[in-house]
Amino acid sequence: MGKYISKRLKNQKLRLERLKNAKSIHNTIPTSTEHVTTTIEKKLKLARAQLNSTSTSTTQSTIEDEFSSPDIPYESVNIIVSIGMILNLVNKLRCPSCDCVGKMSEKITQRRGLVYNIKFSCICSFEMSFTNSTQLVHPTTKRMDELNMMACVAANIVGIKRTGMTTILGMLNILPPVQIENWNKYQKIYSDALDVVKDESLGRAADEAAEQSSEPADHEGVTNIKVSIDGTWLTRRGHSSLHGIATVCTTSDPSKVLDFECLSRYCTTCSGLLGIKEHSPEMYQQLLTQHIASGCEANHSGSSGGMEAAGMVKVFRRSEAKHLLRYTTYVADGDANNERALIDAQPYGNMPIQRLQCINHFSKRMRTALETIKNKYKGEKLEDGLPIGGRKGRLTDDKIHQLTVSYGSAIRSHVNDLESMKVACWTTFYHYNSTRENPNYESCDPSKCHICKHKSFDSSKHSIASAVMNVIRPVYEKMCSEETLSKVVDGGTTNPNESYHSYIWSLCPKTQFHSAKYVRDAASLAAILYNDGYQLSFTKLLQQCGVQSTIPACVRMLQLIDNQRLKDYKLKTKATRQKARQRRILTEQRLNQKEKYTYTTGAFD
Ligand SMILES: [Zn+2]
Ligand SMILES: [Zn+2]
Ligand SMILES: [Zn+2]
Repeated sequence: MGKYISKRLKNQKLRLERLKNAKSIHNTIPTSTEHVTTTIEKKLKLARAQLNSTSTSTTQSTIEDEFSSPDIPYESVNIIVSIGMILNLVNKLRCPSCDCVGKMSEKITQRRGLVYNIKFSCICSFEMSFTNSTQLVHPTTKRMDELNMMACVAANIVGIKRTGMTTILGMLNILPPVQIENWNKYQKIYSDALDVVKDESLGRAADEAAEQSSEPADHEGVTNIKVSIDGTWLTRRGHSSLHGIATVCTTSDPSKVLDFECLSRYCTTCSGLLGIKEHSPEMYQQLLTQHIASGCEANHSGSSGGMEAAGMVKVFRRSEAKHLLRYTTYVADGDANNERALIDAQPYGNMPIQRLQCINHFSKRMRTALETIKNKYKGEKLEDGLPIGGRKGRLTDDKIHQLTVSYGSAIRSHVNDLESMKVACWTTFYHYNSTRENPNYESCDPSKCHICKHKSFDSSKHSIASAVMNVIRPVYEKMCSEETLSKVVDGGTTNPNESYHSYIWSLCPKTQFHSAKYVRDAASLAAILYNDGYQLSFTKLLQQCGVQSTIPACVRMLQLIDNQRLKDYKLKTKATRQKARQRRILTEQRLNQKEKYTYTTGAFD
């Protein structure tokens, strides 16, 4: 009996149930011809199928008909009123005891953050009380309120913490949220709930990856898959890398966050204790021992460079137990630290791990190589008596950019086949090596080539002098060789990791200090938002926090955000996205040239 068998059986049962649910949903929705295209659209479809299978409500929604019925059940919507307004209302009514009108007065019997208990008493001694929130339904808590819980979740979504929430409330003429000790209790409930929802979401991503894997599960129930890995870190000015995060995403369709590990060299408690050390070293030692025993936030002591690699090894090592997966192939950018660490760590014993280059990072090597050649021939005359750079038909910065872009796009459009990739890469060389008098276009793709498409296209603007081409030919001989290109065959990009990272940092403003715990929560929140969108993530999260009331205004906001993300993505058509990428590459290239010491990716040698 394999060690993962019981977990696999449990997962299979879950998957079957999900499948059943998905089928019943499918039967109730009138089948229409759906054109699911974008990644975000696919994710939202999956998320909404989840939502419908878990909710008991009969309302079913698809992405298109979201706002066909904009009626909001107002009795469940919160509004802001002053206590005086409620008193005015009460005083328009008759007292049930003495039948008088307008003899009521109010008294706040208790305030817990946003929640008020108000007592209205009549001069006849009749009393009635009023509260503006229901209590949280949560096994570990007493006297905690939905409204305060939601304020805490809100502060986390926007990344403003308690201080920011106090500002917003103050500007709305509302007293501050619950005091800091109580806020921390709400924050604890939020963190625990977040962990549960995050693990579910990562688990679904793992199931999808296993289902789409080209390899079947082995006798222990573990599947080998291809992932993309990358790292990111957060620094405050003047510190060197306080927080680092190693991230792993699936390469399935749509790609999702599979796992991540946060590392930190900083602990709030430890640095607080340093203040005691000076005047009372003994007490410091005692407190430090206690603190270490109860869990220190700092979990990395090495250099910040090794941070990402250390996290990556952890993530790979736990993949079998956590997800029933082995990350036996991974796509990564130029950083060699991870590769070295993974080779040393051997997370899967003797089973080899294959590394593929990120296509985006890889194609930048062409630029590095061409720039190196250009520098080498600086001040020299080529065989036609002219310098290498300078003007039309020579190796200008724009030409280097164009050559790099066409090299990258040749790889991208032939990513699954080494032979045709090689041909396509050489084509980009011959393409620039030709003039109308001496054409060399036989092997090019007519649909992409200006010269083939437009008979009037001035090829002299386009071509590069043959003396220059002869000089850069060795670069192409290396960059278009089977040995070099085999590193990107069947490869992918680390784009999913990069957009996940931008989600994380949008929750951690660089101007503020963040504890290790806060960064970990931000990474969890970013993962579920990236994987499942806002509506599913927060519906599950609020349920897990014990919020049971219907919250139509909140749901509406979540749907709006999801739909807006979808619209933004659709607006950027493929063409504009490509243009944006080219612009980005060009700016980066110009910035690189300005810096005296440049960071070179895999310099050509
Ligand atoms: Zn009365
Ligand atoms: Zn510590
Ligand atoms: Zn052509």
